[in-house]
Amino acid sequence: MTAGSVSLVGAGPGDPGLITRRGLELLRAAQVVVHDRLVGRELLLEAPPEARLVDAGKAPGRVPLDQVTINDLLIAEARSGHRVVRLKGGDPFVFGRGFEELLACREAGVRCEVVPGVSSAIAGPAAAGIPVTLRGVARSFAVMTAQTGASALADAQGGPNWPALARTDTLVILMGGTQLKGVRGALLDAGRSPQTPVAIVESATLPRQRVTRATLATLGRVEPGAGAPAVLVVGEVARFARTHEDGESRALTGRRVVVTRPLRSASAVAGQLRRRGAEVIVCPLIRIEYRKPRKPHHLEREIFSAAVQSGQEPWIVFTSRHGVVGFWAALRAAGGDARSCAGARLAVVGPRTGEALGEIGLTPDLVADPGRAEALIEILAPQVAGAEVLFPCGTLARREVAAGLRAAGAKVRELVVYNTLPERPDAAAAAEIQRGVDAVLFHSPSAVRAWVAARLAPVRVLVACLGEETADVARRSGLEPEIVAEEHSDDGLIAALEAHFAPSTARSQASRT
Ligand code: SAH
Repeated sequence: MTAGSVSLVGAGPGDPGLITRRGLELLRAAQVVVHDRLVGRELLLEAPPEARLVDAGKAPGRVPLDQVTINDLLIAEARSGHRVVRLKGGDPFVFGRGFEELLACREAGVRCEVVPGVSSAIAGPAAAGIPVTLRGVARSFAVMTAQTGASALADAQGGPNWPALARTDTLVILMGGTQLKGVRGALLDAGRSPQTPVAIVESATLPRQRVTRATLATLGRVEPGAGAPAVLVVGEVARFARTHEDGESRALTGRRVVVTRPLRSASAVAGQLRRRGAEVIVCPLIRIEYRKPRKPHHLEREIFSAAVQSGQEPWIVFTSRHGVVGFWAALRAAGGDARSCAGARLAVVGPRTGEALGEIGLTPDLVADPGRAEALIEILAPQVAGAEVLFPCGTLARREVAAGLRAAGAKVRELVVYNTLPERPDAAAAAEIQRGVDAVLFHSPSAVRAWVAARLAPVRVLVACLGEETADVARRSGLEPEIVAEEHSDDGLIAALEAHFAPSTARSQASRT
């Protein structure tokens, strides 16, 4: 056994929110990621930037890496001591050849963990509102692939057991897009009624999801989108399929929205947008780098000496989640823990920053809500005269906070715990943006500057900014923000976007080039 390992991780059906927690944890710690064609870019961005990504993708009719090559690669990488994640669409053991990879690893003496995934076989129907089982309607379901080779469909010996499949209440067929006619013929021959409802779910759980209803009799007339993955559901439950015409369209359906935040903080807002129907392009334009304190124990002294000497409770002020995370990392690195903050009062800007504090087991004494730095200064000013205030912040921290508190008589110490660095957009995101987008969201002035520097701006795109300062920088860069939401209010930003796009649910017209 070697120190390296392979994890066979199910990536889920498409929506990046549908990977398991264990899968994401492994992905975030991976050194090598070998992924399939259907695994979305956004999940791949979760791998550490220094991880090596290998596309083992098997596009139909195009086989870049054969199975033996993949097995050998996994083993070789693990043997050289790497943490390898083999990221596969859906569940690794559902038509994914995961078991072959597991066996190969075992034979080679390489440690291999299997992390199950949400399979499109069940999630595909569910995403279209179809339950694969239903009391009194469907008590059994089967999952099969139509791609057993064209001959196998006709070949009774090597092919599927159609009579048995025809008697299964719900039949879910994967890789069936190009085989619709064959499937239909085989099921009818095996005695399934031509009136049996059928649903085709393409790109399930993704923004371009499309659902089509048919019956076995009319199935031959359905044209699935070329190249889109599709599951076919045959059985009574398929009549529950919800299509766009059933009023499923949401406020942001069809809108292409760019999120420029660092990846970790982008996923929450991206998820919210997606649930409203938007197609989200995550294009991080800034990167947060947490700083280690130069001297150990320095930090604890910073907080406490003051309190002890003055006899007055010091304050620790956080204006963002990054401040909390950076402070905590620095405190831990300096040998401190939550007790180090026991004598201090804690103030935060915005409920989200408060939540970040909650995650490390601390409860803020004061939350400035609405989440604006000005609001914090206003509330704190009458209480901080003569007090020590520690302000863990970033390199680009706004002057107002420290200045405002100093003006109120506080002794403010700024402690830089993170750097904000510009990030170059990755090629895939840049290409998506060039194809045309409807809106771009900026959460910070530095993201605006990076956007302008990268010359990504397509013509006429809705610019939405969080916070007046971000909006100011956008204006000075000639971007004319139409939506300005309160700082620290993703909900406000999303509500404003919904309101903006609400009058028309038509597919986006803006900025298509
Ligand atoms: N292991 C995967 C299946 C791999 S086979 C799983 O458990 O989901 C690939 C087939 O899965 C595709 O041809 C298609 O039939 C189905 N599929 C995968 N993702 C899909 C999606 N988002 N929407 C519809 N079908 C999907």
